[in-house]
Amino acid sequence: MPTETVDTIIIGGGLSGIYAAYLLSQRNKSFVVLEARERIGGRILSREHQGLFSDLGPSWYWPEIHPKMAHLIQALGLKGYRQFEEGMGRIQNPSGAVHTVRGYPMQPLCWRLSGGMMALITKLCEDIPENAIRLNHPVCTIEKKSAGALVSIGELDKEPWTQLSTNKVILALPPRLAAATILFTPDLSHNLTQAMLRMGTWMAGHAKFCALYEEPFWRQTGLSGHGFSERGPLGEIHDGSNNGQGPYGLTGFVGIPAVQRNHQQHLTEAIISQLAIIYGKPAAQPTAFFYQDWARERFTATQFDQPPMYQHPIYHSPAGQTSIWDSTIHFAGTETATQHGGYLEGALTAAERAIMNP
Ligand SMILES: Cc1cc2nc3c(=O)[nH]c(=O)nc-3n(C[C@H](O)[C@H](O)[C@H](O)COP(=O)(O)OP(=O)(O)OC[C@H]3O[C@@H](n4cnc5c(N)ncnc54)[C@H](O)[C@@H]3O)c2cc1C
Repeated sequence: MPTETVDTIIIGGGLSGIYAAYLLSQRNKSFVVLEARERIGGRILSREHQGLFSDLGPSWYWPEIHPKMAHLIQALGLKGYRQFEEGMGRIQNPSGAVHTVRGYPMQPLCWRLSGGMMALITKLCEDIPENAIRLNHPVCTIEKKSAGALVSIGELDKEPWTQLSTNKVILALPPRLAAATILFTPDLSHNLTQAMLRMGTWMAGHAKFCALYEEPFWRQTGLSGHGFSERGPLGEIHDGSNNGQGPYGLTGFVGIPAVQRNHQQHLTEAIISQLAIIYGKPAAQPTAFFYQDWARERFTATQFDQPPMYQHPIYHSPAGQTSIWDSTIHFAGTETATQHGGYLEGALTAAERAIMNP
């Protein structure tokens, strides 16, 4: 099999990998991004309907505490807007009864991106050569060579589709996913493998729902769209609208654990009924809706990510290592960031570190 040689291989085309690619482009370095899915963005996924981009992955950034995100959005000429929070909130108790409560802005203040969070990825890609990003390229093995590494694309235990040799690999995917799905030769140490497997992938066990409407009827009755439910299926709901004209949206996190989310149709029907109970009859007639179960995404979640994760872990580079194999493989991906790990900010931080390391 002919082997192509490239200076740097970035594995994963989520924010961390795409930002690393953007930084390398600015430095005129040669690289390729190998992305397993048929799309880039990773956990960033914005579905468009009549001009409204519904974020099924991350929708918020927090300029007060995430300076890299705030700066990048500004530098790229993108526009952010405050999460709509004016009006009263709704609380549903375990019996299904709903109460109206005083609304309050979440702290720190949450901002959304015009065009959805995917606008950030699209904009970064404007500065990345198109042929440098290879979709449908799942990396299955990485083998150490006397200089650099050999990276194979395909399915484990089958003939690789193609192989690339490189001086430097940037692992821009969740460490748990890398440890569970990529074969490293020679073996990674036991300590490192265990550390990678222990690093839960942030939000990988979650599912998100967005319902779209012609009118923001909840706002017209003095509701902000912010709601909590102890009954479900949605546990937490927000206004997911554009900054300006419609369509308008209600968006929520499913409160049911991944193992119980078996029947998507039943679940989405139950969610729409719940929205009608909380926000009134018009909520029963969305013009469109989107549902995304991240726990079922093989390029995000593993079996270890199925149980719900209730607390934000304290992330750090796995086993304290930011690179291995004499600086051939560098860890990126938000879960390896020592600050803001799990968040978009962490994805930028980890990418910068991987680029700076020689
Ligand atoms: C529902 C949800 C809501 C969230 N809300 C927020 C929020 O409001 N604010 C916030 O800051 N963060 C939020 N997050 C977290 C945020 O999405 C992540 O921090 C960020 O997107 C991680 O980027 P990443 O590049 O590190 O990883 P990923 O986005 O996971 O990218 C990894 C990439 O690697 C690819 N890949 C996997 N395996 C392979 C392989 N073998 N070969 C090649 N490619 C591979 C994947 O397809 C993917 O594209 C949320 C996440 C979810 C799921």
